[in-house]
Amino acid sequence: MFYYDITYFLVLLGVILTMLASSHVQSTYAKYARVMSASGLTGAEVARRILQLSGVNDVTIEHVAGSLTDHYDPSKKVVKLSDATYGSSSVAAVGVAAHECGHVLQHHTGYFPLQLRTALVPVASIGSNIGLPLIIFSVMLGLSDTLTRVGIFLFAFGVLFQIVTLPVELDASHRALAMLSDYGMLADGEVKQSRKVLNAAAMTYVASAAAAVLQLLRLVLLFGGRRNRR
Ligand SMILES: [Zn+2]
Repeated sequence: MFYYDITYFLVLLGVILTMLASSHVQSTYAKYARVMSASGLTGAEVARRILQLSGVNDVTIEHVAGSLTDHYDPSKKVVKLSDATYGSSSVAAVGVAAHECGHVLQHHTGYFPLQLRTALVPVASIGSNIGLPLIIFSVMLGLSDTLTRVGIFLFAFGVLFQIVTLPVELDASHRALAMLSDYGMLADGEVKQSRKVLNAAAMTYVASAAAAVLQLLRLVLLFGGRRNRR
């Protein structure tokens, strides 16, 4: 069976990695959400100051519902900070707010991996949405091997997108911690605590990318090598 062959353990491994990373970031965030920074600045205030000090005047800071929903929307030039981040002065909140500003600065300075990631969005979404169904239909209905390989090729673009996301996320956190320290918004010990939160968040991207690579590996093992099957 397509779903329960021996290579399925690769998919399961990916699922386990993703779950571990997700629970790790949630517990780390919860821990450091209780540690208030000495400056007393909230996530929103930190974000405003960082953008001001960096000379970015055309990006607004807004509140968004949900937990860990923080993101920067480059098309609208808005930093959205979640419930837990916007009004809190915890080292977790401040770290996440600064991380989103890291993305703003990447955008502002034309950081190449971000540009590449943005360019990959349309093709990656096609790959993630159409790649797997195409492979399944083509295999189940006994259609051409070429069609199966096209599906794998499309799926690979989704995987590539996840891999390109890694340097973008790591760089945003790196910028965030440097700015929090340089601008005196967090003391050295607080920067270390924020780093733990941002590292845990980065691990979720690493786990997602690893899961995607494992799934791609499985597809290649199952279907990639077949020739003239019918
Ligand atoms: Zn990010």
